[in-house]
Amino acid sequence: MSSTCSCGSSKLGHFGENVFSVKTMRNYLSENAYQKLVSTILKGEALDHSIADEVADAMKTWALEKGATHFTHMFQPLTGVTAEKHEAFLMPDREGGAVATFSGKELIQGEPDASSFPSGGLRATFEARGYTAWDPTSPAFVRENPSGGCVLCIPTVFCGWHGEALDKKTGLLRSQHALAKQISRMGKLFGIKETTRPYATLGAEQEYFLIDKKYFEKRLDLLQTGRTLFGSRPARHQQMEDHYFGHIKPRIMAFMDEANAELWKLGVPARTQHNEVSPAQFEVAPIFEEQNLAVDHNVVIMHVLQEVADRCGLVCLLHEKPFAGVNGSGKHNNWSIVGPDGKNWLTPGNTPHENAKFLTMLCIVMKGVDTHAALLRAAVATAGNDHRLGANEAPPAIISIFLGEQLTDIIEQVEKGGARSSKSAGLIEIGVSTLPKLPRDATDRNRTSPLAFTGNKFEFRAVGASQSCAGANVVLNTAIAWAMDEVCTELEAKMADSKKDLNAVLHGVLQGIIRKHKRILFDGDNYTAEWRAEAAKRGLPNLTKTPEALAALEDKKSIALFEKYEVLSPRETKSRYEVYMHAYEQTVTLEGSCALRIARTMVLPAAYRYLAELGSTQAVLPKGVGAGIAATIKEVAALTDKVNAEAAKLDKGVKAHDADAMLAAMVAMRVSVDALENLVPANLWPLPSYAEMLFLM
Ligand code: ADP
Ligand code: MG
Repeated sequence: MSSTCSCGSSKLGHFGENVFSVKTMRNYLSENAYQKLVSTILKGEALDHSIADEVADAMKTWALEKGATHFTHMFQPLTGVTAEKHEAFLMPDREGGAVATFSGKELIQGEPDASSFPSGGLRATFEARGYTAWDPTSPAFVRENPSGGCVLCIPTVFCGWHGEALDKKTGLLRSQHALAKQISRMGKLFGIKETTRPYATLGAEQEYFLIDKKYFEKRLDLLQTGRTLFGSRPARHQQMEDHYFGHIKPRIMAFMDEANAELWKLGVPARTQHNEVSPAQFEVAPIFEEQNLAVDHNVVIMHVLQEVADRCGLVCLLHEKPFAGVNGSGKHNNWSIVGPDGKNWLTPGNTPHENAKFLTMLCIVMKGVDTHAALLRAAVATAGNDHRLGANEAPPAIISIFLGEQLTDIIEQVEKGGARSSKSAGLIEIGVSTLPKLPRDATDRNRTSPLAFTGNKFEFRAVGASQSCAGANVVLNTAIAWAMDEVCTELEAKMADSKKDLNAVLHGVLQGIIRKHKRILFDGDNYTAEWRAEAAKRGLPNLTKTPEALAALEDKKSIALFEKYEVLSPRETKSRYEVYMHAYEQTVTLEGSCALRIARTMVLPAAYRYLAELGSTQAVLPKGVGAGIAATIKEVAALTDKVNAEAAKLDKGVKAHDADAMLAAMVAMRVSVDALENLVPANLWPLPSYAEMLFLM
């Protein structure tokens, strides 16, 4: 921590304590091995395998001191968040004792039996082997289990035997590499001296719900699918708008304190926490980091939130839409890049030169995102996110960019400007030495935009709360690498043709980009029907459901993009389509089966019991009264008929694996079930209510 603050005795003082960080490894490695490893970590140089044994030994010594008994190669398969298989350091000796062993080979490479992980056709079962390979750019850490046991976790990539990417991290690292290459090239064009390795940054804000475990245990839907398939919205929900940034309840504070302490020990720079819009909804945001590390840290955040919640008698729900009728949860993916000059290239600068680079960056993002909007949409397409995107609380499925009033105005002036003579008319001429000061820290906010410029970064708000950020960043990095490549090529060609400098050709190039891609800019309310109509006019894709959104992965344009930048081979891209479509279909099917089970074995029996009670009451009523009871019996009975009819349709849909039929039947059945919840006595109703789950904790 900073020398001006002595946090040594507080929980902050434990920051990074369980991480085999650059700082820690200095004490465990020889100078030679340390220097070599640090070059790989900080400068991106290739790993020198000759130091593997020494690094493994140092890591083991450190981990044993921390109390670790096991190590694991942690990886991020195409389904689920992470996967891990633990191995004890244990090696029995011939005298009946044991020693702790861990070799360089074990550090660098693991061979989990990969046959059970989905590969989307990348691997036949007879060649089921996959291997995990150490990613030295994300530090190993020791995870403490509540029982006192500890595991050394080594972040790895997961590949097939021929190097095919079977995970989310491999593509991410490749896309970062592709982007960095283009940033260096653009840096050279702008005459920037390379003092550091360029990289992308990510700050991933995480939204989540907390509910009391005793309710969770009685909700088969939450237990099995992560969301409530039924539940009538209570009288009070989020309409008072008093939860967002509201006072944090003591029980939640205790949870947050414990989660922070855990995250800090693991080197995750959790910084901001607050109540979110829906009751029982919260957010945690870390300080941004290099993208690969931030993606890993987000995964760690998800695990820690769930584990700490469990210890606090709570359950942390990461589903995109655990409760209908109130806001769902997303992840705000704050993306930027640091150039070879060590500076954030999305910060308006102090000099015309820096501002020319900044505006060039804005144009590059416009070009990349407009051209590959459907692919970006595909990166956030999941069954869970379908309930959230476009639901008047999260960005719509239409990808557009918000720049804010001042920057939009500047972009418009750049578009109109150009002729040097027209400068007097207030139009801007972009040249590296002619640009006026740009507004800094533009504070406009537009909560409805899927991709908003927020002062020094682009905030992509469509990522689902339970998703890894890897997919979205693979697309952002690659699409922007492509746009940067195109722009650099054009600038270089124009400079060569005209024998002019960058100053002379830049404006024309940016003008061309703005003319072609300004349709992607939208500053208004993204939730309105007017915007949907306007977007259709502009030709922007509006892919509302996962299957149509995932189709972008089958599109030649996307396949060629990933292939050109060596991010994913055509086979790898195809495999993503297969795996994600399969996950979608499986999710809908399991939700369908679960809804059917709850309706038939819990909801209908409760309604029949109530009908029986009403019937016996009716039987003892004197003649001439009881019209109210008769009406209620009729109403309840009619609803049970509807539930039965929809259940039959759902059953058919489940058996036919027909996702659309299942979704339609589930929605229709829910209407009747929720109506029954408002009629059947609370003590007969088999499921905890929304009011209990959202307000009692
Ligand atoms: P808000 O929700 O108001 O946008 P937060 O403080 O909750 O703001 O989150 C902003 C996130 O953006 C934080 O995770 C922060 O670290 C991150 N961020 C800030 N600057 C950058 C940057 N240059 N690159 C990536 N992320 C950034
Ligand atoms: Mg925030």
